[in-house]
Amino acid sequence: SVSSFISRSSSSSRLSEFVDAKTELQDIYHDLSNYLSNFLTILEDSVLLRDRQMLEHLCAFSSRVEAIAKVLSRDRMKVAFFGRTSNGKSAVINALLHEKILPSAMGHTTSCFCQVQANGSDETEHVKVEQEDEHMELSALRELASAHSPGALKPSTLLQVNMAKNRCSILDYDVVLMDTPGVDVTAQLDDCLDSYCMDADVFILVLNAESTVSRVERQFFKDVASKLSRPNLFILNNRWDKASSMEPEMEQKVKDQHMERCVNLLVDELGVYSTAQEAWERIYHVSALEALHIRNGHIKNPSAQTKERYQEFLRFENDFSNCLAVSALKTKFGPHLLSAQKILNQLKSTLISPFIEKVSRLIDENKERRANLNAEIEEWELEMQGEREDLQYCFEELTEMTQRLGRCVLNDQIKT
Ligand code: GDP
Repeated sequence: SVSSFISRSSSSSRLSEFVDAKTELQDIYHDLSNYLSNFLTILEDSVLLRDRQMLEHLCAFSSRVEAIAKVLSRDRMKVAFFGRTSNGKSAVINALLHEKILPSAMGHTTSCFCQVQANGSDETEHVKVEQEDEHMELSALRELASAHSPGALKPSTLLQVNMAKNRCSILDYDVVLMDTPGVDVTAQLDDCLDSYCMDADVFILVLNAESTVSRVERQFFKDVASKLSRPNLFILNNRWDKASSMEPEMEQKVKDQHMERCVNLLVDELGVYSTAQEAWERIYHVSALEALHIRNGHIKNPSAQTKERYQEFLRFENDFSNCLAVSALKTKFGPHLLSAQKILNQLKSTLISPFIEKVSRLIDENKERRANLNAEIEEWELEMQGEREDLQYCFEELTEMTQRLGRCVLNDQIKT
């Protein structure tokens, strides 16, 4: 049934691994930060341990941990979509969102960079130009992003579409979807590409299955591939519903032709995959529009061909999600993990160990002082005892002399 068919989407993906890893890393950095501030308090409060250089060291560690934690909280998985105008980039994004969010219609193509993401926890849904403060309603998007509206933005603008976290499950997984103006425009926007797209974990080239890859598209991807070593590149031959409305035999022939050209592009021209098999697995024939219509209930009884194309869309969704999570885990969280390990090791070797040594040394010195003092006291005690004995002896002698005097005859004579 259609519903079982729809619910399969994203279910087997590894996107949650990214979210789990992020939570775990954030906990680690949170604990590390607490640990450092506790240690700082111990050092500041202790007369014995107070040491300006060590305190400075510790503060430096603290700010490094804070800085990484900040980057970490912003880390998300990013997918960038490229292709010529009207190939269906926005349609693919809408299908992934299960909802028509981006304007996508004949003559309504995206005219700027459009980043769809989950909003902050205390925000309402809104659209916003990156550099500006004004929050606009989602409905303003059609006007803003459309190349043909009077209010259209410059192609280099980055428009942020901030959606409620629970509205689209892919966004809830911390995925950011970047729609770009057609490659014909994008190619001239080198700066924007660098700043908006080069940090993407996965690149999706949306082609029009009704035509062949254009020279601009090839050149554009050559440029991308030369900037990044082995980008994760997927090719969607979109509008396959239109392109394949022909005899089955012919359809297979066209598909084979597309496959051959795309494999050639990925392996020989771009060099992003080393084998044809690898490239083969990254090429799909889909209909984004149908996928969206199935997902929002507009197609009640899909034909066998429609079902087949939807299966292919699910396969694409699952494959790129897995690739996205694996790549983002490695490139984004790998360095944070290494940094945490390095900070812990440095803390151990440069701070804690010297302090333990210092305290141990103080304890040992004290023990020694106590032993020396004990010996001195004992000696003194002995001396005192000797002196006491001498004095006692003197006293006894005096007593004896007194007694002698008492007994003296002269004494009696004086009395009388
Ligand atoms: P973009 O400029 O690459 O973002 O292209 P759009 O997503 O705006 O799509 C351009 C036009 O093609 C729109 O009218 C879409 O409805 C239509 N379209 C997109 N994908 C498909 C598809 O798979 N099949 C069909 N038949 N039309 C599509």
